[in-house]
Order: sequence, then C-alpha cells, then structure tokens
Amino acid sequence: MTRPVLRISRTRFRENIAAVGRRIAPSALMLVMKDDAYGHGLGWAVEEAADAGVSWFGGYDIPTALRIRRALTGSERILAWATSTDAEIAEALLHDIDLGIGSAEYLSRVIACARTLGRAARVHLKIDTGLRRNGVLPADWDAFVAEARAAEDQGILELVGVWSHLAEASDAEDDEAQAVFLAAAEATRRAGAAPEVLHLTASAASWWRPELRGTLSRIGAFCYGIRSADGPELDGIRPIASLTAPVIAVREGEAVIGIGGFDGLPSTLAGGVDVGTPAGPRLLRRIDQTTSVVAGWPGMELGDLVTVFGPGDRGERSATALGEHIGTVGEEILTRLTPRVRRVVS
Ligand SMILES: *Cc1c(COP(=O)(O)O)cnc(C)c1O
Repeated sequence: MTRPVLRISRTRFRENIAAVGRRIAPSALMLVMKDDAYGHGLGWAVEEAADAGVSWFGGYDIPTALRIRRALTGSERILAWATSTDAEIAEALLHDIDLGIGSAEYLSRVIACARTLGRAARVHLKIDTGLRRNGVLPADWDAFVAEARAAEDQGILELVGVWSHLAEASDAEDDEAQAVFLAAAEATRRAGAAPEVLHLTASAASWWRPELRGTLSRIGAFCYGIRSADGPELDGIRPIASLTAPVIAVREGEAVIGIGGFDGLPSTLAGGVDVGTPAGPRLLRRIDQTTSVVAGWPGMELGDLVTVFGPGDRGERSATALGEHIGTVGEEILTRLTPRVRRVVS
C-alpha cells in the first residue's frame, strides 16, 4: 500500500467522550457529527458513542441526521438544525428526528408538514443571541413561541428545546448572549411550554465556562480530540486519529512519502512543520500532488511509516497544531482529507 491511512482509535474516542461527559455533568452531551463526524467517518462513531451511552446526537443537516438514525438501534435523540426543504422535513418527521428552528418561515413549513403527515414535530426553537446567523431576534421571540404553542395545543408539535449558538469571541459577549438566552427560555415557559432541554454551548464554552452550560451541551471537536486553535491542551482529551503515509522512495537525506495535496494536505504546511518518523520529528520539506518530501533519518527504509499528524507519540504534531501553522483550525485539517485517504478504525 502506498496510499495514506487515517488510523482511528475507538478506545480514545470513548475516553474522550467519557472525559467530556465528566467535565460537563450534570449537563448532558449531544455529540455533534457534521462533516462525516469531522472527517473520521460517521457510521462506526455513531455505534461506538451509542454503546458508550451517548443519548443525543447532532447532525447539522437532515441527510446527516438520517444517516445517524440508520446507524442507531435505540431511541436516541437526533437534532438537525439546518433549514431544509419540505421533502427533507417529511423524511425527518418520519424518522423521529428533532428539528432546530431558526426562523418563523421555517417553523410554519415544519408545522404544515407535520399537519399533512399527521405526525407531531419535535422542535428546538433558536433565539439569536448576537451571532446573526440563523435564529429569531428577541423582538420577534414571543410571536414565534406563540405560533409553536398553538401547534403544540393542536398536538402537531412538541416544543422540546430552546437553544442558541455562542460567538466565543469574548467572555463578556458570551455572558450577554447567555442573558438573552435565559430571558428567551423564561418567556417560553411563561407562554406555557415546558422545554425538556436548553442548549447554548459547544466544545470550548462547555469545557471552560461551566456557568454558561445548559442542560445539554452540543460538542463535536473535543470528542474527536481536536482542541481549539490557540487554546490550551485538555485534561483527558487526545486526538483519536493519526494520519500516516509510507515511505515510497529514499534519496540522499530525504524520504518521499505517499501523501500529497490531492489527499487534502494543505501545501502551505511545507517547510513549516515536523512530522513523526521512526527516529522522531523531521521537517516536512515539500508537498506535491500525491507525494511529499520529509527530511531523512538514519536507517530509513521503504515502507517506514511517517505520521503527518496525531497524538504526538512519534514526534508529530496534532491536527490543530498544523492548522495553527497555516491560520486555520484542526477541524479543517481533518475534513479536507479526501476519500483517497483510507479510514481504518480499530
Ligand atoms: C458544529 C456545531 C457545534 C459543535 O461545535 P464544536 O466546537 O465542534 O464542539 C455545536 N453547535 C452548532 C450549532 C454547530 O454548528
């Protein structure tokens, strides 16, 4: 095999989920799985997480939520929050997917679909707490809730949750966002609803700002062992994936490895980061289309494995550290990997 492999550890995934769960308790974990579980592959991850006791999953869009549903055997809850077509809404209702609703227009369409199908829609209403990205403004909140409550009284809707998303730009802004969020939750209760979950925070705020957590925390990155760019290391959290490529040619002082830009490796990493080799860290010198060049080591041989990113066992950096080097986040390094990179889960 000359192709690169993303080796993924089920054990580490479970350890991260456990560490996150302990950290955020009594808030419950919603495991976010967008972008094919952040590039790790969705199917195995859903099974492993459900086996580890995760009872809420976040799919972003309805097609992802349906893939999660197909991988589950139990009655775990799945939330899809991307505004979707009527055909997708109908599929979601038929497969017991909760819907995140960020506009009055979408709420009306979901109610209409539920009425047509004769199936109650489980909805989580989204307040805009300052991000200005899908969410109902505070001034429009009461009318929005009133429409949902009317549908609830008719038995075609269950108002399951109130939620929002933080900018995570500064603590002060996030505090203000939380105040808006709590006021919206209170107004929802005053309107006669009894939402079972409130959720505001993703990985970083859930971990570092306990006072902002709701009853549920939507977390992706940290469960996959991806720390925040420019953020500290996290107790009990380790990357679950290592990207490896074999040495396919040896030259004077250099090893050529079987991974390149076509595999999704950003060419801007060349010359700036170390990768892991049997002899420890070595500079990644050049990135071509399907191969790259690494500074050599004594005794290097064809077939030796080089680790491009991973937990650091062989001197390699984490995906986040690579991201930081080129001004992006670890998620981007993982989700850019193309299908040429074989995923091996063990
Ligand atoms: C992606 C996403 C999350 C998870 O964010 P992480 O930082 O990966 O934990 C949570 N909520 C929403 C709305 C998202 O889009």
